[in-house]
Amino acid sequence: MRGRADVDETLQPAEIPGRLLNELYTHALDSWPEECCGLILGDRDDRYQRLVRCRNEMTQRHQKDPIAYPRNGREAYYMNEHDYLREVEKAEAEGLSVTAVYHSHVGSAVYLSQMDLQYAQSELFPFPEAKQIVVSVSERKVHGLGLFERAGRDAPFVGRPVKPLTP
Ligand SMILES: [Zn+2]
Repeated sequence: MRGRADVDETLQPAEIPGRLLNELYTHALDSWPEECCGLILGDRDDRYQRLVRCRNEMTQRHQKDPIAYPRNGREAYYMNEHDYLREVEKAEAEGLSVTAVYHSHVGSAVYLSQMDLQYAQSELFPFPEAKQIVVSVSERKVHGLGLFERAGRDAPFVGRPVKPLTP
């Protein structure tokens, strides 16, 4: 396994509605200096319909068990299980599913880190079919965004740029 997955700027950008990107940026800036995380819901015809915020509980996990969780919420995310289970149940009732999982990087670039890859590729990861979105932020600024996808569970993640889709 490679150490990390970067965005290949030569690939065609993924198009995501501008309204949804704004919600994503707002969540990332609101969560600073910690990483934010959440889900994007949609269906086959319209992949990116709605964003739902989840709590990042990595800091609490780190404080309770720093050996098992050596990083805090500024450097990593751990999506609150109740949050995502509740949202998935609500989404399924409406015929939607989780099409992407997002998180932010605070003060670092847009890529999937070795830890992000381990989490996304582990048996325990709840959304193996979902794409991954990473947004890079500092205190008041969004620096970049990338979308990572793979051809199948055993295929590597490939990162592409994102451009806003305006209605
Ligand atoms: Zn990350």
